Amino acid sequence: MGNFFISIPHKFKTAEKALIQKVIDFATVAHQGQKRKSGEDFVSHPLAAAITLGQIFPDTATICATILHDITEDTETKHETLIKEFGKEVAELVDGVTKLGHVRLRNSKDEYYVENLRKMFVATSKDVRVMLIKLADRLHNMRTIEHLPKDKQEKIATETLEMYAPIAGRLGIGAWKDELEDLSFKIVDSKAYEETKRILAERIADRQQSIKEMQKELSTILHLEGIKFQDISGRTKRIYSLFKKLERYENDITKIYDKIAFRIIAKSTADCYAILGIIHKHFQPVPGRVKDFIATPKPNGYQSLHTSVFDKDGKVFEIQIRTDLMHETAERGIAAHWFYEEQGKPDETRVTGQPATWFKELRSWQEETVNNPDEFLESLRVDFFKDRIFALTPKGDVKDLPAGASVIDFAFSVHSDLGMFMMGAKINGKMRKIYDELHQGDVVEILKTKKPATINRDWLAAAKTSHARSHIRKYLAENDKGIIQRVRELRVQNIRIPKLPRFFRKQ
Ligand code: MN
Repeated sequence: MGNFFISIPHKFKTAEKALIQKVIDFATVAHQGQKRKSGEDFVSHPLAAAITLGQIFPDTATICATILHDITEDTETKHETLIKEFGKEVAELVDGVTKLGHVRLRNSKDEYYVENLRKMFVATSKDVRVMLIKLADRLHNMRTIEHLPKDKQEKIATETLEMYAPIAGRLGIGAWKDELEDLSFKIVDSKAYEETKRILAERIADRQQSIKEMQKELSTILHLEGIKFQDISGRTKRIYSLFKKLERYENDITKIYDKIAFRIIAKSTADCYAILGIIHKHFQPVPGRVKDFIATPKPNGYQSLHTSVFDKDGKVFEIQIRTDLMHETAERGIAAHWFYEEQGKPDETRVTGQPATWFKELRSWQEETVNNPDEFLESLRVDFFKDRIFALTPKGDVKDLPAGASVIDFAFSVHSDLGMFMMGAKINGKMRKIYDELHQGDVVEILKTKKPATINRDWLAAAKTSHARSHIRKYLAENDKGIIQRVRELRVQNIRIPKLPRFFRKQ
């Protein structure tokens, strides 16, 4: 993989490069002999994912963990080995990705369920970098999905569209969200995909000439007004987002104004507003289409000025104006923010007094806000759902439990019978006590007996959910009644019995 470093536009320090190379060598040996469905060596997958990740977030530990992300699941390599060879940070990230692999979308169209799953995904990640790795992993799998059998393709594409793309969106990583959406839309609904693509191509073919003219005119006007800018480019809407919009506008494409948008990259925030003014001086704006996402960024941190204007033939164009930092944020989201923080570069997008809006949005899932921007780096490692534990059945069903919940709570949340017949449990594949507390993302397998379990008062102490507690209480009450009944019968038969404990005498 000689071109690994060439593919990532970032200057790594010598020590960083050495560590990444060591990881590449290690992964190559560990995955030796394993093949992908395409016939390629398996290691090509984590390497490609790491390059994708490095392009938006060239952080050494994260790149190393991406190269190692399938290693504990697919090879004999142990977590301890990773700690010893590459340090705790890398090993923890790999562990996080492995756990996150258990969060799967089952066949459900229930929006509440899907939303819960997305939350689960965020909660399990703890460290945002784990999500970035998982997204890069999925992006590469989607790019190479044609090698899989049809039914598997559909399952993965559905999951990508429902879970991964929205998460990329919430993290503000526009480039990944767009690509994930289009790749999976093509598989989930190939007919609609082709149709939308055709509609778009037709509309654009019509307007090729006017697009060129508009671009020329815009740059001439800005030059004449003495405004320097970095770039003007025209782009068409992505297939999936056009499809979603068409659905809202009764398939009438003439009502969709942003199918072709010009993007002007300005040199400063002040220039953005100046450019908007100049454009409105020369072109008639479409009423109600001016949006100031600089003053009021979107929840995921997106900043830009949007307007739609009529050209001299009365055709509508959308124009987006932003600085290159805003553009970076739009493409790379959370990764760009973090990266600029790390590099100590001034982050212009935060001067507006809107620190990391995407982050506040994430936190608002938990109804918490971050007031201190200095906590920024630390807070990336935050557990988004402090008061909830999300644990999984071996099949990947998500159980949402209060913090401090035990195996007992988990068993009753799956099914009350499972609680009543429980004899033990495995957590993440290891035998554990039923009283043990669960942790975020644990995979819990409940072991059953044929006879009802001997439930005692210790169960009540370990149960946190009212659901489990009410079942246990009911059992204990009936059990007590049974004992009292038995004692009475023995008395009738005049059999000597020891004095009853005080609890039973109360009856
Ligand atoms: Mn993978």
